[in-house]
Amino acid sequence: MKKINESFICINCWKNIPQALKTCRNHCPHCFVSLHVDSDIPGDRATDCGGRMYPTAYEIKNGQLKICFQCKVCGKLHRNKRADDDEIDRLDEYIKIYKETLY
Ligand SMILES: [Zn+2]
Ligand SMILES: [Zn+2]
Repeated sequence: MKKINESFICINCWKNIPQALKTCRNHCPHCFVSLHVDSDIPGDRATDCGGRMYPTAYEIKNGQLKICFQCKVCGKLHRNKRADDDEIDRLDEYIKIYKETLY
């Protein structure tokens, strides 16, 4: 199984997202949207669902922030560590916006 960590263009806000330094990034640090490409392990790229995943909640455990994402197409839930350059101040706001537009 190969882990892929490449730069990409966000499918939601169209910003160019550089590689994350330490983590295997799969969500946008600006709007937190990602594509459903991983199966059970972040970075495994083992599913071909391709739906959009939106943040639905977050939790802080042992001082580390984890973001919960849900796929709009298949409903799959994912949890991901935040990346260092995530615009975490706006996460709350985005979760609210996505809740209103998705449900
Ligand atoms: Zn984005
Ligand atoms: Zn999916």
